[in-house]
Amino acid sequence: METVKEESADEVVMRLRAAVESGRTTELSWRARQLAALEAMLAECSGAMEAAITADIGRHGLEAYLTEIYAVAREVRALRRNLWRWARTRRVATPLVLRPAHSRLDRVPLGVVLVVGPWNYPLNLLLAPLAAALAAGNAAILKPSEHAPACSALLAELVPTYLGGDGVAVVEGGPAETGALIDAGVDHVFFTGSAAVGRLVLERAAPRLTPVTLELGGKSPVVIGDGADLEVAARRVAWGKFLNAGQSCIAPDYVLAPSRVARRFAEAVAAAADELYGADPAANPDYGRIVNAAHLERLAALLSGHGGEVVSGGAVIAERRYVAPTIIYAPDDRAPLMDEEIFGPILPVIPIEGEGHARRFLAERPVPLALYYFGRERNGRDFIAGTRSGTACINTVMHQFASSKLPFGGVGESGIGHYHGRYGLERLSQLRPVLIKAPHPDFRFAYPPYSATKERLVRAGLGLLARPPHRARLGSETGPPPRPHDEAVVGEVRHLDALDGRDA
Ligand code: NAD
Repeated sequence: METVKEESADEVVMRLRAAVESGRTTELSWRARQLAALEAMLAECSGAMEAAITADIGRHGLEAYLTEIYAVAREVRALRRNLWRWARTRRVATPLVLRPAHSRLDRVPLGVVLVVGPWNYPLNLLLAPLAAALAAGNAAILKPSEHAPACSALLAELVPTYLGGDGVAVVEGGPAETGALIDAGVDHVFFTGSAAVGRLVLERAAPRLTPVTLELGGKSPVVIGDGADLEVAARRVAWGKFLNAGQSCIAPDYVLAPSRVARRFAEAVAAAADELYGADPAANPDYGRIVNAAHLERLAALLSGHGGEVVSGGAVIAERRYVAPTIIYAPDDRAPLMDEEIFGPILPVIPIEGEGHARRFLAERPVPLALYYFGRERNGRDFIAGTRSGTACINTVMHQFASSKLPFGGVGESGIGHYHGRYGLERLSQLRPVLIKAPHPDFRFAYPPYSATKERLVRAGLGLLARPPHRARLGSETGPPPRPHDEAVVGEVRHLDALDGRDA
């Protein structure tokens, strides 16, 4: 088995670049074989993976299996099965004025992709981007989180064993190793983690103009709208919030609920948490643990000085890295609890005056990774349309991450770029347009010198080619009724005609 520990960052990048330059990683057969090997690794080593996740963050084996092994296996399978379709070159039409010629769009690899992962889903958030990178024909370096050491060591052992050392490497370590790999000239950085570190990664990549994908976090709100089924909403929110002890980037961070139901909703979430984890979650192996002492201290600090009422929970047992599922009603808007991403099992419920108030509340804050609306679907769609977020759900939470048919990613402060399914392959490849002409015929009329006759002919010829379709078609009384898009165009044409002093 190949080990990369003794290699410097420069050597790892050079080794993988050689694999890319040999053309091997671009071959569809190589990509398909790598994806199949990744599937085999997930199938054959799921026990060891579950154990490593439980050792690192105390998550139940079934939860580890569902969120990190089964979920990634589905993602890899979707990429392998659709590889030819998603990666193939497409022919596209060529405008008449450029013919004779034909045009195509090639999807070409970026080169060496560095995947930097966080600790909270320590396998999924490395292996799913890895699958996308390989499907796109790249070589890839995985840099697991130093805060999930069991998973990091397991990946360093399994990945070269299953995928070979040719186009893939695992580099263990922390900020220094990540920085050195970026400086060594990787072609793309796919980073999942906090916004603060995301900024540092972006700065580090800037001198070489190395492109980055940033999968960040933020405060993902839940909005309770009119007609919401409070009991179902409370159960779904409790499930999403307390899964992995709240340490999910798309976990509901806080709830905005109309003041007439907010208190009732807070109590319903407390009851749902009780149903999920019993009266003593500290004794329940289904309930997760906080990753380390530093994060536990951070959460304990959020639990004091928030100015709200603790509806349930609040207990912290430092030596067991335990924070109880906690619901806080009406905390102070300016408390750290409502400022930083909570990333733990604490749920503030904030009474608001209505959906207009909720919209203003969100508009004043950084764009979240996810927005969850509970209520009538129609209202939910209107609400979502009037707000910004990386992803959104109506009447559920977290499930948008599980579909390989939906792109996943943030916008604004919650990230740059999307992946999952074909979107991952597209993100990690370049769409390269190619226009192909034969040497003959070689029309000379567009070359200088521009005589008056030549100019007249060219202008007349181009005028003939450029039909004004909207004016001709929309002006006709007998044509088909205009579509909404056309109506906008008709408006524009009328406006231009009015400016021209002519009748539309
Ligand atoms: P983090 O930002 O502290 O670390 C992420 C990775 O960056 C680690 O591999 C770490 O070694 C590396 N790193 C740390 N400091 C660095 C530096 N100065 N230079 C270069 N690399 C550095 O994040 P975390 O604590 O592991 O994870 C929690 C955060 O990740 C939360 O904010 C969460 O919302 C976010 N997250 C986002 C997603 C998503 O898909 N959008 C998923 C999971 C977690």
